[in-house]
Amino acid sequence: MPSLIFRIPHSAFHILHSPFMYHLGLIGYPLRHSLSPEIHIAALKACGLEGDYSLFPVSPDDKQGLKSLLNCVRTGEITGLNVTIPHKQNVIPLLYELTPTAQAIGAVNTIYLRDNKLIGDNTDAPGFLTDLNKFLTTENTEKNISALVIGAGGSARAVVYALVNNGWNVTIAARRIKQAKQLAASLTHHTIQLTNYQTLNDQRSTFNLLVNATPLGMAPNADQSPWPENLPFPNASVYDLVYNPRETKLVKDARAQGLSATTGLGMLIEQAALAFELWTGQCPPREIMRASVG
Ligand code: NAP
Repeated sequence: MPSLIFRIPHSAFHILHSPFMYHLGLIGYPLRHSLSPEIHIAALKACGLEGDYSLFPVSPDDKQGLKSLLNCVRTGEITGLNVTIPHKQNVIPLLYELTPTAQAIGAVNTIYLRDNKLIGDNTDAPGFLTDLNKFLTTENTEKNISALVIGAGGSARAVVYALVNNGWNVTIAARRIKQAKQLAASLTHHTIQLTNYQTLNDQRSTFNLLVNATPLGMAPNADQSPWPENLPFPNASVYDLVYNPRETKLVKDARAQGLSATTGLGMLIEQAALAFELWTGQCPPREIMRASVG
């Protein structure tokens, strides 16, 4: 009787015994100061996973560069990608499907493969909302309903989407009213008010949340603030999406007036953690991710 000897091919043996390597990364331009590698490496380590996180600078008009990177996700060479300025919209035509959130916001910040199809999602909106709710609870702020969002770019879209879908009345203040109108019009089923810097004074008392979604105050221009110099703040909680420096001028000025205020580091961590969950199926510890960037 022939002996039953199973020979495991070397390649299969290798697959059976090697841990899966997660190859993650970020597409954007420029990417010099990104904190994402530290945050995601910390998450991989904390979850006991092997992998890396690379920066892929792709210049704004390099369509071929974008296509090649997305193809690497399709083939499994890259497990998942984050997307930042200027490609959050450029990647959309190259994807098979958008999640309802990404579709409604009109921007993608996370890409992954499901059933061999490239999916685009947006974790900025739930990341912002989770951190906002934590901030409002921590600061023991009474239930708020009226928010002023300054800016009408990519992150403002995610912020406004998150707020209106959670019962907030939203007013957008933008220097280009056309951009603000487009944002408001794209979120059908919701009434969004528009204002400009000139009329802010008349309306400010109605707001109990102020969100900065412009880059004003971001290093190296840390002496700037989106709030007009001579205008008193509303009696509002202040959430600044800018997280570098750790205390922005807007946050410093608001705190000096006795208001509760925070920068956007918590949102950065939360949107990263949600993307990580989509790529790995694991829930990473937020405090370890946060500690990785000081
Ligand atoms: P974006 O798409 O370029 O939009 C920026 C918005 O700010 C636009 O409406 C722009 O108006 C306005 N703006 C720029 N400079 C201005 C100025 N001097 N005065 C008045 N308005 C001005 O950028 P984004 O992606 O929304 O990012 C905005 C900021 O949020 C950045 O600092 C980014 O780092 C931060 N962010 C943080 C997180 C986080 O996780 N915490 C996530 C996303 C973004 P124009 O179109 O007229 O220039």
